[in-house]
Amino acid sequence: MGLFLKGIKLPGKLPTFDAVEAPLPKRVILPLRQYIGEPARPVVSRGDRVKVGQLIGAAEDSTSLPLHATIAGKVVGIEEHLDHRGALLPSVVIEADGADTWIEPPGEKDIISLSPPEIITRIQGAGVVLKGMLPIPLAFDLLPPDQPKTHLALTGRRVVRRIDTLLIAAIDPEPSLLVNRYLAGSPNEELPGGIAALRSVTGAERTVFVVDKETSPSSQLTEIVAGDEEEVTMISLDGHRFPVGLPIPLIKAALGREVPLPYGHPRDVGVAVYDTDTVLSVGKSIQGIPPVETLITVGGGAFAKRGVVKIRIGTQISTLIESLGGFTGEPAKLITGGPMMGTAQYDLSVPITKDIHGVFALKEDEIQLVGDYRECINCGLCVKVCPVNLLPGVLSLYCARDRFEVAEREGLFACIECGCCDYVCPSRRPLVHLFRHAKHQLLET
Ligand code: SF4
Ligand code: SF4
Repeated sequence: MGLFLKGIKLPGKLPTFDAVEAPLPKRVILPLRQYIGEPARPVVSRGDRVKVGQLIGAAEDSTSLPLHATIAGKVVGIEEHLDHRGALLPSVVIEADGADTWIEPPGEKDIISLSPPEIITRIQGAGVVLKGMLPIPLAFDLLPPDQPKTHLALTGRRVVRRIDTLLIAAIDPEPSLLVNRYLAGSPNEELPGGIAALRSVTGAERTVFVVDKETSPSSQLTEIVAGDEEEVTMISLDGHRFPVGLPIPLIKAALGREVPLPYGHPRDVGVAVYDTDTVLSVGKSIQGIPPVETLITVGGGAFAKRGVVKIRIGTQISTLIESLGGFTGEPAKLITGGPMMGTAQYDLSVPITKDIHGVFALKEDEIQLVGDYRECINCGLCVKVCPVNLLPGVLSLYCARDRFEVAEREGLFACIECGCCDYVCPSRRPLVHLFRHAKHQLLET
């Protein structure tokens, strides 16, 4: 097993938590784009009645995804709404009729009878999003199925031409997020189908599960591993060593392979890496069931109730807060995602979309205020923790002085925005903010 000693060891133990189902919302806001790519085209009009799972937006191309109704009711508007990234997006607004009537799924199909292209078509047709720093349509990530993703071969760098390993992260991207750990401990009927589908599409000969060492795997997971010890294995890692749950450090920690950065992809080292949540969505998509609900982590000291919450996509954050009994006090910061890498929210009307891992309402003693940052003192702490071996302090100086091209030459795009450098910086420099801004500027030009 490879070594992953960088990053930071976050304090605390895995919290005990409950999984709860949020009540059906009275209204959902469904942005026609919930990923990086082209928005879907609405195929319903104001006044139309829809059922759960009904197509309401059609994909325009392979960078676009279809959108489905997540509650039954009446379309009351197709209008612009803010999403959690601060973008104003055309969205379908549905008011519930309370009946929660679902459309008939096209019918279960035996995975063995589906060819890899048919599986990809089903995943695309269900509108599955691959969550992450840059959420994209999962089907787009799976194409081409058996080729490397990047063009590193053209630059003379060696790449693996074939995927040999399906790495399933039953561990979360941040220690405070709980969904994958929860799923690792509970049986799921979609798991075998999801694994089989991803192995078929990627051609991987073996599956490696990565679980948190504090999680007890479900009997289902243990049986899957015991049933095929040659091709399926399980590895335990310390989930408190952040960011071991992110794909690139995870591959290093679990398999000892280094994804070539800045522009490499897990496929370049022969690995397809997906978390359990995504594998289950694939299992459902094979049966023609689109993701209409999602599991998110609700955390932070200001929430009256915390844990893993199953919620309909499109529910507004304000509704989520209300359904969990509100706050115990005024939160100092509300974020979507996890506390290390999440996005601050200022408008509680934004909806929960397919790319959201969690919602955190943090109290003052749980956040670091960055308003009074100081000059870099060259302490080198950020260098010690950076999991991709950058010089964050130096990079930040280029970015702060708008020398974006120099920052790019120094490896800016290798940054996985984990926030470890921010976390340890004694000068409280907003390093990730500077890197994001610089990347944005470079991508714009
Ligand atoms: S430079 Fe990027 S990858 Fe390195 S620690 Fe900072 S945020 Fe993480
Ligand atoms: S941790 Fe902060 S102060 Fe220290 S070298 Fe990095 S940027 Fe500079």
